[in-house]
Amino acid sequence: MSREEKSAGAAWPISIPPRFLERMAAALGDEFAQFAAIYAAPPVHGLRVNTLKLTPPEFQAIAPFDLTPIPWSPAGFLIADESRPGKHPYHAAGLYYLQDPHAQAAAEILAPQPGERVLDLAAAPGGKTTHLASRMQGEGLLVANEIKTKRIGHLISNLERWGVRNAAITNETPERLAEFFGPFFDRVLVDAPCSGEGMFRKDRAAREDWSEEMIAGCALRQAAILHYAARLVRPGGWLCYSTCTFAPEEDETVVANFLAEHRDFELAQTEGRHLPQAFAGSPAMLRLWPHHSPGEGHFIALLRRSAHAPGRPAEAHPPAHFAGSLPRPVQTAWNAWCAQNLTAPLPVAPVLWGSRLYALPDALPDLHGLRALHPGWWLGEVKKDRIEPSHALALALKASEARQVLALPFESPHLLQYLRCETFQSAGEDGWTLAALAAPLSAALPPAAPALTPAVFPLGWGKRVKGVLKNHYPRGLMWL
Ligand code: SAM
Repeated sequence: MSREEKSAGAAWPISIPPRFLERMAAALGDEFAQFAAIYAAPPVHGLRVNTLKLTPPEFQAIAPFDLTPIPWSPAGFLIADESRPGKHPYHAAGLYYLQDPHAQAAAEILAPQPGERVLDLAAAPGGKTTHLASRMQGEGLLVANEIKTKRIGHLISNLERWGVRNAAITNETPERLAEFFGPFFDRVLVDAPCSGEGMFRKDRAAREDWSEEMIAGCALRQAAILHYAARLVRPGGWLCYSTCTFAPEEDETVVANFLAEHRDFELAQTEGRHLPQAFAGSPAMLRLWPHHSPGEGHFIALLRRSAHAPGRPAEAHPPAHFAGSLPRPVQTAWNAWCAQNLTAPLPVAPVLWGSRLYALPDALPDLHGLRALHPGWWLGEVKKDRIEPSHALALALKASEARQVLALPFESPHLLQYLRCETFQSAGEDGWTLAALAAPLSAALPPAAPALTPAVFPLGWGKRVKGVLKNHYPRGLMWL
């Protein structure tokens, strides 16, 4: 049941398409009763801690929710829905992402490493991208692509909130990406559009829109997406395919057909990646069932491209075309801004893209000709001879990197005022001020936690003028 349904007082249990149940009964046999029983209970909820900002034990020490660890996701926890974790200042500070527990297995299985080139081909709204980003720890290149323009906004704001410094965000078809990049990426994730059978408990539209025709249409689309995804994987690289549906036509059959047509790929091993016994089965094609473990259901296959497959060397790509030295007045303005507002220079060489300053991820090729919405970490806007810092800069900074920090504890009325985009009185020096949440660190911190536990988490910018904080929290994120 989605929160919208709940607030609308939707009846529970929900009604599930009879033909879907018939199909599942035929597929599951003796297990079907256990499977069907899940529809008598509400969905489970999960969150994943942002390890770019704090460790899971640190989060546990400050979290006001009951958290149960998810065995296959080291930063993941089950959470009770009543906690309303989506409307919490920790969420605004990007300390966690609300994500189905089973969906958290995909990035763990793909297992990107810091420094690699990683593509999330169907990224919006960014659940799995944020997970990939955490695993990469800010090093390497993460390309987050979404074909649907109207879904890009959520992707951008989720990556900003997450504090990702090494992502480029594109709005392209898989075909154009394949033409553009060739076999460039170490790892590619295809979290495919699907018939969404695993969304039935959460999403009324998924139940109402479901049909066998839809399954057939999705399978065709998935095959086409995978065909282009294959061309983006470097020889020896990895391809992870996932769906949130149970229909074998969209899962095992799509993978089998793909393997039949792409002899340079084979199923890889997912064993030994801390997956619970309940997921055991075919080692490289996992089905995460909602009646076996907490989660709404997922299918994940990990494939590997042969190291001997032909491929244009990725190094053939020239570096970003807009890289190079900044115009002198812009460089001067940026240096001055950093000296005035940061405790130390940022280890970046900004580039100008239109009127925006960006720090480009390592290994970013020239994106000319692609619809790139953000080529890297957006630092700020050049306005005449001054710099206006971006929200993306604020959320990817550590509080200790800003000279002026307004640390707002939960009991401060200014915290809510800030998130509501209000202006308020604030004593201190004039200038850019990083508004931040001061988390109440409890004595519950485990002894192993680092001594300098970050307890102050940026929320966004304000600009103080004569004792008044002008609010720069983005209007689109305003708390109502
Ligand atoms: N990975 C996302 C996450 O974890 O938040 C969810 C992705 S969702 C399951 C699938 C995405 O595929 C949608 O954002 C959808 O717009 C996109 N999509 C739809 N048709 C597509 C196509 N033909 N090629 C690539 N992506 C497509």
